[in-house]
Amino acid sequence: MNCPLCGGTECQNKFESQSNALKYHCKEYDKEFLVSGNVEQPQNNIKQNQLNNLVFEFIIRNAVCEDENQCWWFQYLPDYHLQDKDASNIVNLAEINYPNNLVEKLDRILLNLYNIKSCYGEWFHLGGSLARAFFTDTDENTELVGIYMMLQELGYITVKPPVIWTEHVTALIGQIQTPS
Ligand SMILES: [Zn+2]
Repeated sequence: MNCPLCGGTECQNKFESQSNALKYHCKEYDKEFLVSGNVEQPQNNIKQNQLNNLVFEFIIRNAVCEDENQCWWFQYLPDYHLQDKDASNIVNLAEINYPNNLVEKLDRILLNLYNIKSCYGEWFHLGGSLARAFFTDTDENTELVGIYMMLQELGYITVKPPVIWTEHVTALIGQIQTPS
């Protein structure tokens, strides 16, 4: 099972019968969390990517669970609103709005980058493990590269060497700059 955060296959996941969910430990981001089956049985790949994007954003923004003895437990319940009686570590992804326009998407991408790399001017690899941070809906590298290029053209990141439309996206390095 690919890791919802980094997309890798190396991250630990094991079934927890108590919660009827998979417990992940992402090596790349060093985060532990539970994912219920209803998150991992979406209608299509785009929906799966979108749910994973929300998991990523939530975990990066909320490093510590309200209940310190628990980790976040992601579920997808379109017909249910969480109530006080529900466990405090449950997150209903259906209750988090998905960025439905480009401006909001770019805004939330920049927040993700800030939460991962809060030091402006730091260089980092624009690899596939950042796909979730960039809110990509598809598995196509062209979408990821397109977003890099847009952020670069807007002056938010500097990419070196210049982005080339190849499969070698993982070799690229980018830099977050202070928005002007
Ligand atoms: Zn991972």
